[in-house]
Amino acid sequence: MSRSEKLFEKAKEIIPGGVNSPVRAFRPYPFFTKYAKNSRLVDVDGNEYIDYCMAYGALILGHVPRVIVDAVKEQLEKGTLFGTPTESELELAELICDIVPSAEMVRLVSTGAEATMSAIRTARGYTGKKKIIKFEGCYHGAHDCVLVKAGSGATTFGVPDSLGVPEEASKNTIVVPYNDAERFEDVMKENKESLAAVIVEPVLGNIGLVLPKQGFLKTLRELTEEYGVVLIFDEVITGFRLALGGAQEYYGVKPDMTTLGKIMGGGFPMAAFCGKEEIMKMIVPSGKVYQAGTYNGNPVSVTASLRVLSFLLERRESFYSEMEEKCGQIVKSLRRILDELGLGLQINHIASMFQLFFTDQRVCDYASAMKADNSRYMEVHRRLLEQGIFLPPSQYETCFLSLAHTSDDIDKTVKGFETALRRLQH
Ligand code: PMP
Repeated sequence: MSRSEKLFEKAKEIIPGGVNSPVRAFRPYPFFTKYAKNSRLVDVDGNEYIDYCMAYGALILGHVPRVIVDAVKEQLEKGTLFGTPTESELELAELICDIVPSAEMVRLVSTGAEATMSAIRTARGYTGKKKIIKFEGCYHGAHDCVLVKAGSGATTFGVPDSLGVPEEASKNTIVVPYNDAERFEDVMKENKESLAAVIVEPVLGNIGLVLPKQGFLKTLRELTEEYGVVLIFDEVITGFRLALGGAQEYYGVKPDMTTLGKIMGGGFPMAAFCGKEEIMKMIVPSGKVYQAGTYNGNPVSVTASLRVLSFLLERRESFYSEMEEKCGQIVKSLRRILDELGLGLQINHIASMFQLFFTDQRVCDYASAMKADNSRYMEVHRRLLEQGIFLPPSQYETCFLSLAHTSDDIDKTVKGFETALRRLQH
């Protein structure tokens, strides 16, 4: 029995399912990580894996980037938590306003879930209305009003509508199929008197990877503007990844509010929500929408955040095109392998994100993503693990590249896929 297997058996006795976040669990057991460096994770049994999960998209510079670690070490000596304002958090807020097109004011929080929860509350406070629209398969964190037809672990473990969410909390959430502009228009018209907000992942990264159809985001923008509904882009995944300014820069569509997380923390708990001054001013103490947190603007996280965002800002001209090229190489090679093997699988990709779907039909929404065969995906996942390659452990997640992935990593990955997919065929 490996050490990971032993640890998992023990963990299951005292941690629900043996893990502290559901997507980390997979059969027969997940490996337990001892340390990480660059593109690699090393487990407690000494196995090394090229990592395409990258903490679910958080680590765009790879594991343990020097530029962040050195700054954080220095900050640790100066203090880890003050409970007072700092100059650095002001600097970070200014940086976010410079980078993110929709950001006029920012509030820092610690997790993506807090960011979406607070953004929705703010939009409700601002409009004085209750209902929100979310899209099927979009995941906005583990809080009540968005755990309705949610993607990610909620879909992987068969609980897109979680137990324990009172009907009162979810009855104001209207779910619309992603990429269905007509249905969206109908729902907007039917509910225009009571709608506070529309929240969307501009690129859906939580049922595998699904791209918005041409014009879909623009339709959301036009109709929310027409009906006076707050449009929230949940850019917890896409922020600083699709482009420096996120999906709103990439697609040229500016929402009223934006939620950010993952990449902006540089590996530390850090998230934010931002938007129009008029809306953000509703937040306490300048307004009457309550939002607070002991760890908001934590100085260690702020230090990491300043480092990662400054790094990306300095290199924005070449960074994103190089990442896209790297991803393109993998996708091109995978398509060649699929052609050679006569496998009619789907690959969706954009910028430095990709995912393979085990279905022969195009994947453009929740219904088509659900046609993909997760058990075949997990078979390939297992065969790749045997070869030292770690994909996120579910068909309903997305693979992420980082700056740390080398061309050797990519060659090894392509070969690994070839072996895994060839075996799958027979
Ligand atoms: N929004 C999106 C789009 C996400 O992908 C996630 C997490 N995967 C969240 C919100 C929640 O973030 P956190 O896990 O930091 O609470």
